Amino acid sequence: MLLSPPRVLCLSGLDPMGGAGLQADIETLAAHRIHTLSLVTALTVQDSRNVRRVVATDPALLDEQLSVLLADAQPDAVKLGLLGSAAQLPVIAAHLARLSVPVVCDPVLRAGGGAALVADGFPDALRGQLLPLVTVLTPNAAEARRLVPDGVDLAGCGAALLADGCARVLITGGDEPGASVVNHSYGRDMTTRRWLWPRLPETFHGAGCTLASAIAARLALGDSVDDAIDAGQRWTQAALARAIAVGGGRRIPGRMPA
Ligand code: PLP
Repeated sequence: MLLSPPRVLCLSGLDPMGGAGLQADIETLAAHRIHTLSLVTALTVQDSRNVRRVVATDPALLDEQLSVLLADAQPDAVKLGLLGSAAQLPVIAAHLARLSVPVVCDPVLRAGGGAALVADGFPDALRGQLLPLVTVLTPNAAEARRLVPDGVDLAGCGAALLADGCARVLITGGDEPGASVVNHSYGRDMTTRRWLWPRLPETFHGAGCTLASAIAARLALGDSVDDAIDAGQRWTQAALARAIAVGGGRRIPGRMPA
């Protein structure tokens, strides 16, 4: 056992069902033998079907927590999930700018059950303030289209998000129709990669959080961005294949050690 394991700093919402958010991060990172530095960006009221309410953390509290934490412990990577409000963005950006580690950002905008999780101006604020600091952005197709409403297609959305400053965009297709789930990554050198995954019969809660955390885990372990995106998808697909039922709605990725 490592005395000083790699660490990933996670800023995510708390889902009492334990499927998405910070618990998804902690479980995914623990499965990779990585320690999580945990910051709660929002408390939520939800079940396995949908989110009913999001209560954002006070940005001043987040700032104080980050200052105290980062004065004592340095992360090897950062993962951003649901951010409670646009007012948190300048605080988070200021701390990220002082770290020189890879940042994975899952731009959580809407719950799989349909509930809006952020206010109207949030997508533009995220693009302007955070994307220049992001290494890998992991929107699903609906999130990519909401972030880039004037994108002609998903490739156009990817190009616009790269132009905002992030290094790589992985657009996942779990929320699109089709027998396979088709994921695309877009890089600044204009390279596109495509993955086809068999579509599993269930619907899932917390799949996107699990994927972004698995990519952050691989980056913290020293993988290249390409390898991390590959390995993160493989790990998540395996977790979805052994998904567990906790509530009566969607299933939760099986992240516990086999
Ligand atoms: N709650 C929290 C805290 C989340 O971070 C997310 C998504 O990232 C959700 C709920 C919604 O998850 P899903 O769309 O997988 O149900």
